[in-house]
Amino acid sequence: MQAILELSDIDYYYHTLSGETQALSHVSFTVHPGEFVAIVGPSGCGKSTLLSLITRLLTPSAGKIFFQGHPLKEEDTLHMGYMLQKDHLLEWRTIRRNVLLGLEIQKKITPKNLAYADLLLSTYGLAAFADKHPSELSGGMRQRAALIRTLVLQPELLLLDEPFSALDYQTRLHVSNDIGTIIKQEHKTAILVTHDLSEAISLGDRVIILSNRPGRIRSIVPIHFSDALSPMEKRNAKEFNEYFNLIWKEFEQNG
Ligand code: ADP
Repeated sequence: MQAILELSDIDYYYHTLSGETQALSHVSFTVHPGEFVAIVGPSGCGKSTLLSLITRLLTPSAGKIFFQGHPLKEEDTLHMGYMLQKDHLLEWRTIRRNVLLGLEIQKKITPKNLAYADLLLSTYGLAAFADKHPSELSGGMRQRAALIRTLVLQPELLLLDEPFSALDYQTRLHVSNDIGTIIKQEHKTAILVTHDLSEAISLGDRVIILSNRPGRIRSIVPIHFSDALSPMEKRNAKEFNEYFNLIWKEFEQNG
């Protein structure tokens, strides 16, 4: 099966007046269709730099990035969807009109796409809130609306940049469970960047562990649970602690 994304031997250096900072060193990994890849690492190890390279905001200093088999190009970023820490919903628009925003901007308001937006709103429990404004929704519902706004554009690859870190602990557990379940149900391919090990293990099919700066891949851990479990259920499964201890050890000997 052809990879959606392949990073091959990526280095990245920031150049500033005070000198050169190497943010990433020899980073290589692939992401296949339908996979959920979680990237974890300490603060400052280059996680955001990695996403900026994938979205072409930055160009690698060395190495190559391929998207669906060809060298990554500008148009490919149109096939990527984003979920960030802030939901960036617009208060003056209703939830439905927020969800339609990307389609409007890309001039893709068609009967088929409108029907798909409504289907997603009803499947994921927001139909009754479609005419409300963002401030009338809970933090979790807002993140769900933000995800639906991205999904209506049918992205090939979802990029999640610490999407739950602004939420309090309890809400964070529920919202990450919700979002992880929706992404799997919609058969989407996703890359999650996080510093939260538990989040990475409960959501990821694979966890990529980065070292301290310059970020190198310490190890890649495939995650398998014997039963089909939701992200929340995985946190209570026996394999969870085993993965947590394994990955924690990698972190402890970080350097
Ligand atoms: P993370 O997202 O893992 O916290 P970043 O990708 O933001 O890490 O940053 C990686 C390293 O690169 C950091 O140690 C930071 O000091 C450095 N860095 C990030 N942005 C810049 C910049 N614009 N100029 C110089 N150095 C930078």
